[in-house]
Amino acid sequence: MQELTFTTSVVGSFPRPKWLIEAFDRYNKGEISKEELDEYLDDAVKLTVKEEELAGLDVITDGEQRRTSFVAFVGQKIPGFKLIYVTDINPKAIEIMKQYKAQLTYWRAVAVEQIRDSVIALDEFKFTRSVTDRRIKVTLPSPYLIMWETWDAKYSRQVYPQPEDLAQDYIKVLRQEIIRLRDAGVDFIQLDEPMLGDLVEARENEPDRYRKVIEAIHGQKYRGFKNELYLARDLINEAIKGIDGVRIGMHMDRWPNPDSPFYGIGFERLAPEVYDIKVKQYVLEYASPGSGDPAVFAKDLPSDKELGLGVIDVRNPQVEDPQTVVQRVERVVGVLDPRRIWLNPDCGFAPGMYRKFERRIAFSKVRSMTEAAKILRRKYGEK
Ligand SMILES: [Zn+2]
Repeated sequence: MQELTFTTSVVGSFPRPKWLIEAFDRYNKGEISKEELDEYLDDAVKLTVKEEELAGLDVITDGEQRRTSFVAFVGQKIPGFKLIYVTDINPKAIEIMKQYKAQLTYWRAVAVEQIRDSVIALDEFKFTRSVTDRRIKVTLPSPYLIMWETWDAKYSRQVYPQPEDLAQDYIKVLRQEIIRLRDAGVDFIQLDEPMLGDLVEARENEPDRYRKVIEAIHGQKYRGFKNELYLARDLINEAIKGIDGVRIGMHMDRWPNPDSPFYGIGFERLAPEVYDIKVKQYVLEYASPGSGDPAVFAKDLPSDKELGLGVIDVRNPQVEDPQTVVQRVERVVGVLDPRRIWLNPDCGFAPGMYRKFERRIAFSKVRSMTEAAKILRRKYGEK
């Protein structure tokens, strides 16, 4: 089979319908049962899958409709994590986030006991498979992200003296889940690694704004730029070592802040180590202002790897027209073979359940992207 050029996909989440968020709230108040909530969730996934199909995407997701957030949902899935509200961990948490202009999800999944093997996304995948014939991407939190997000000096230290100990146990669970998903026929497994993406804005002796917030709230200590980079690389490689037969990617974003001296610099800041991470595809934010030039990252990309290029801004409600998207892709067309270029938005449209983004705007943006892919294929791609 000839490989597709300019394959289109999404990063993961799609905005949830209002009625789903209301159902979540009613469930939390005890007004509806788990069975009733599950019906809402199934309906929301069917709706999202249908919208992604209508938008013309080649590889779809379930829009993460069942997850409260892309990372905190492990608190509902994996025994050993507990969901704790951020001000119960640190009463000043909200002020700290404002001070550093770095927003974390308020419900924190925190490791409180030894974590144990459990399904993370296989159940989600099986349902999605039952309602679509398209190729499916499944997203999973990456081990380096989990280490930074879920270790807390007060709650976790008894069972995990160091954050790295927790990461090792999570890797065991994650490997099992990746193998289960592969065996079930998933096309693309994406490890979400925004904490590594944020490192673009860190200095050797000064962490980026997200790590400053986590240091203040959870008590984890920054290891220095290079050590963090080595640790991330090694943890991810350990999680996927020897697993073949499925496309594995890694997503990084960074929400560039105009105040930062690294505004305008891209993920090449994490080179060369970032290229030694043994994933097939890097799914990267490059459409939002200040995220740098993707050609700089792409020119040193090892030849067996793909770039999932962020071509849709997920913070700006203005819908890009297809020509704008084409121009964004053309920044890397001379550098990479079109079979190695995938198109996706910069990030999920709603990584957390309550993030507001209009569904119809998200749909139009994705539609623009698939229209752009058609133009690009006529111009550079399939014969
Ligand atoms: Zn993202």
